Amino acid sequence: MISPSGSPGPTPSKTVVVIGGGLAGAEAAWQLASRGIGVRLVDMKPERRTLAHSVDTLAELVCSNSLRATGLSSAVGLLKAELEATHSLLLRIAGETAVPAGRALAVDRRMFAEQVQGALLDCDSITLEQGYVERLPEQRAIIATGPLTDNGLAQALGEGGALLHYHDAIAPLVSAEGLDREQVFVASRYETPGTGDYLNCPMDQPTYFQFVEALNGAEKTPLRDFEHAPFFEGCLPVEELAARGSLTLAHGPLKPVGLIDPRTGERPFAVVQLRAEDRQQSAFNLVGFQTRLTRGEQQRVFRMIPGLEKARFERFGQVHRNTFVDAPQTLDEQLRLRGNPQITIAGQLAGVEGYVESIACGLLAALFVAAELEGRTLDPPPATTALGGLWGYLRRPQAKFQPSNVVWSMIDTPRRQRRQSKRDHRTRAAQHALNALGEWMETHRRLF
Ligand SMILES: Cc1cc2nc3c(=O)[nH]c(=O)nc-3n(C[C@H](O)[C@H](O)[C@H](O)COP(=O)(O)OP(=O)(O)OC[C@H]3O[C@@H](n4cnc5c(N)ncnc54)[C@H](O)[C@@H]3O)c2cc1C
Repeated sequence: MISPSGSPGPTPSKTVVVIGGGLAGAEAAWQLASRGIGVRLVDMKPERRTLAHSVDTLAELVCSNSLRATGLSSAVGLLKAELEATHSLLLRIAGETAVPAGRALAVDRRMFAEQVQGALLDCDSITLEQGYVERLPEQRAIIATGPLTDNGLAQALGEGGALLHYHDAIAPLVSAEGLDREQVFVASRYETPGTGDYLNCPMDQPTYFQFVEALNGAEKTPLRDFEHAPFFEGCLPVEELAARGSLTLAHGPLKPVGLIDPRTGERPFAVVQLRAEDRQQSAFNLVGFQTRLTRGEQQRVFRMIPGLEKARFERFGQVHRNTFVDAPQTLDEQLRLRGNPQITIAGQLAGVEGYVESIACGLLAALFVAAELEGRTLDPPPATTALGGLWGYLRRPQAKFQPSNVVWSMIDTPRRQRRQSKRDHRTRAAQHALNALGEWMETHRRLF
């Protein structure tokens, strides 16, 4: 493996075009370059942006700044450990730009994106090009234009009839100045009251039910051209959850378990959690508050949350169409378009869901391409690993294929022993996965 550290390396004899410099594209570009392959990384930024992208840098986290749980007993924790083991650039930089977030890995999104972009720009074998791509490229390419791939390219990809859609939403951001510190308390779940990484807005029972009623009556933005697409179940708007039942939120994003208000010594009826957006804690994300309420209604209803009465919104929540290919129908084992094997699809467009999964898919796509350019075929990662589980999910035909986060049911785990707790079983499965990954890397050591 050649280090893409910016030092002059050998002139690459092979070049791959990577379209989209988001999470998957940035990771894929780095992985190719670190194997001595030339990369033309094309992104439409800064001239053009999707509705969710708001800065000019590559590798932008469009909504939350969290890369989710860290422990090995969670599937996404295992996936992150596997990405570290396989030398993911973005995971390394996430670690370097982390902000406190309890048992989750959250990053300062500005620092994260700037450092990723800096690493790519420093790399001699990557050329960064600004360009809006509307057609399928004719050279060997990886397309990683994400869930907001817009019409021209989406149409070209959809000509085989395998492009699907669903809805996704993002949560609002509020600035630190507008928060009433007398009302919110600092805590992370299950940690000593008064310590932790989140600000918590406690609700008593009457306040909670008034809030749910207000959500149910609030005006929503209409779903225009993509009305018939469903919402992604793992990221439902807060008002959709409220409409499912008066206690759904209290058992979901507003659940108070493990949180004691240090001023009362009691657990509130419900809690809205705020997670810092940056190291300076100048802005906070309303955790789980992805929404399609109109802007005016977001101000009216979310200011009913104790501590947010004077909240200043740095960004409002929004809803978007999310586009992806029907991977089991459309892609081959190496994530190439069956009808056009010059083209590999990576990231959320390939049918994974989530930041970490998109990074993982970018890494995997690049490994497949790198092996192919050496005239070999890379076996997929073992089914006992999270990487292998995610890959397997993209291969399994389903009546209604939908992108998915990584979950344990995708991963082949050893049999659970009698009286073994779920957590212990998963931690053991994770060790098993990391060993299997190590063996797989050893088998393909030329690539690593
Ligand atoms: C609104 C929304 C909110 C989300 N929130 C979260 C969240 O909180 N947590 C989470 O884990 N996941 C979230 N996701 C899901 C997903 O993980 C992210 O969208 C993730 O960024 C996907 O990574 P990607 O690399 O596939 O695409 P992206 O990161 O979106 O990157 C795509 C890149 O391609 C470029 N591009 C697009 N079209 C073209 C074109 N035609 N020509 C040239 N360049 C192009 C874009 O400028 C962009 O830089 C969200 C998705 C959406 C849509």
